[in-house]
Amino acid sequence: MGRRGRGFHRRFLRWGEAALALAYPPICQVCHEERAVPRLGWVGPRCRRQVKPVRPPFCHRCGLPFDGVITGPFECGNCRDADFSFESVRAAVLAEGVVRQVLHRFKYDRAVWFRPFLGRLLVRAARPGLSSGHWDLLVPVPLHPSREREREFNQAELLARFLGSRVGLPVRADLVERIHETPTQTHLGREARQENVRRAFRARPGCSLEGLSVVVVDDVLTTGSTTDAVARQLRRLGAERVCVWVVARAR
Ligand SMILES: [Zn+2]
Ligand SMILES: [Zn+2]
Repeated sequence: MGRRGRGFHRRFLRWGEAALALAYPPICQVCHEERAVPRLGWVGPRCRRQVKPVRPPFCHRCGLPFDGVITGPFECGNCRDADFSFESVRAAVLAEGVVRQVLHRFKYDRAVWFRPFLGRLLVRAARPGLSSGHWDLLVPVPLHPSREREREFNQAELLARFLGSRVGLPVRADLVERIHETPTQTHLGREARQENVRRAFRARPGCSLEGLSVVVVDDVLTTGSTTDAVARQLRRLGAERVCVWVVARAR
């Protein structure tokens, strides 16, 4: 768990829960109009019903859902000329509506009490594949240390630990580090952007993942260039296979 250790994060999560526990009866923290169960991450049944799971057809590489009828595996136009270091991305749900709002508040407003809600979505979708015995460890997408200090936690790591404890896989947050913040780069072309993101991560020298199968975990995936950059470093450490699991897929 990075520089602060797991104790810090456990205390931080408990503090978040305690702040809400003062509000009784527990109210849905999305709509504030229905009862919610803290264990389910403070999102009530009506809001939970609005969540859209990712269902086939989706690109077998980057997990992008496709509206329409396709039978059998397909690859989207984007992936056909991409050279990704991961073999596949899977997402539990679409990054829309309630999920989008919760992800934003989880990350930027320190709404850590949403972790069970997001974590359970991830566990439900990822457990069948990850419990197969074919995977060795989970690696959260790292934040730059100054960003993590400012935010006080890494949302990807909180989710990876939630998932790891439920599928019985260890979490390693020390294998890849983020050495540059990636500034807004909307003015750059796709290739320049990818090159920038690639340079932002570095594999920890002296670590070896020889022959291991590794799962990168993040909260949300948009273009895939960040997770790809992390996957690339894991491959450099010798990982044989790298796949990606995220809570939500943006289109
Ligand atoms: Zn609600
Ligand atoms: Zn694709």
